[in-house]
Amino acid sequence: MIAIAHPQIGPEEQEAVAKVLASGQLAQGKQVEEFERRFAELCGVTEAVAVSSGTAALHVALLAHGIGAGDEVITTPFSFAATGNTILLVGATPVFVDIEPDTLNIDPAEVEAAITPRTKAIMPVHLYGNPADMDRLMAIAEKHHLAMIEDACQAHAAAIRGQRVGSFGTGCFSFYPTKNMTTGEGGIVTTNDAAIAEQARLWRSHGQKVRYLHTGIGYNYRMTDIQGAIGVAQIEKLAGFTERRLANAAYLSERLGEYVRTPVVRPGHTHVYHQYTIRVPRERDAFQAALAERGVGTAIHYPRPIHKQPYYQERGFDKALPVAEQAAEQVLSLPVHPALAQADLETIAREVIALCR
Ligand SMILES: *Cc1c(COP(=O)(O)O)cnc(C)c1O
Repeated sequence: MIAIAHPQIGPEEQEAVAKVLASGQLAQGKQVEEFERRFAELCGVTEAVAVSSGTAALHVALLAHGIGAGDEVITTPFSFAATGNTILLVGATPVFVDIEPDTLNIDPAEVEAAITPRTKAIMPVHLYGNPADMDRLMAIAEKHHLAMIEDACQAHAAAIRGQRVGSFGTGCFSFYPTKNMTTGEGGIVTTNDAAIAEQARLWRSHGQKVRYLHTGIGYNYRMTDIQGAIGVAQIEKLAGFTERRLANAAYLSERLGEYVRTPVVRPGHTHVYHQYTIRVPRERDAFQAALAERGVGTAIHYPRPIHKQPYYQERGFDKALPVAEQAAEQVLSLPVHPALAQADLETIAREVIALCR
């Protein structure tokens, strides 16, 4: 079976981890510091705060912006649940608005229509690694004095006219093993705002500016030096990984273009293909099963929009968001990761075409 994801771990990561283990400094230390410096550089921002997961990054970013009870955050329902869950975890209300039918990213017109006096932030997701329409979203945020928190968990090194995602507002990235780069588990918050970075550091570690002096409360969301060392090794390989993803996606688009639809990439946007996701207009689940029989692993991102999750339905979030709901019934992600061989790509294209005919 051709796997849908395949983390790229080599001798560089193994050696880096062995060194940390031998050093005795296992928790957050010099490796995390180095990783933060390198990741900030990658995004073109002044500050990066490494944490234990992408979910922790979203949570800490919301807390650092002072978002809490009584506040509303406008976001997309077509994402991993963490996007909505972290808004609920800080005591705020997620306001789900519909997505654009062509990109599957949050629709700026819907965002603007949903603003109320309680709105504090916009949280777009750069879905599948394809940047959301930040030109229009940033204009809306500035006009209404809203914070911008980018869920860039799938979009390492994605960009708009060369400007990296995670540098428009406060960026949140994940390093889960299936993502474009990994630290096992891990996440990071990126920002050009020193005050936001300082708040994020306090929330990451029990509100301590100095050890055992707690000016606030907080969590233990620290990244270990073991993860930091893997991250430094991975960041050196990221450009190569991204190149392979782009080449794999270009091959699939060339072969499949006349048979299937994929999300549109806006002019000037660099999509980093965390996922290569097609629309299967009819009987998607049977299509997926048939591909599995033919040796092609796939996944559905996502089978149920967040506002349709039982927890959210029970709490009155279940309104009609038809574009997201239709997408959830049709999307199917094909393997696009950097470990695919040319023969794998040919198999994927051949079997998808055979099922479309
Ligand atoms: C992976 C992901 C997250 C959560 O990241 P974790 O590291 O798994 O906590 C959040 N949002 C999106 C869009 C993701 O893809």
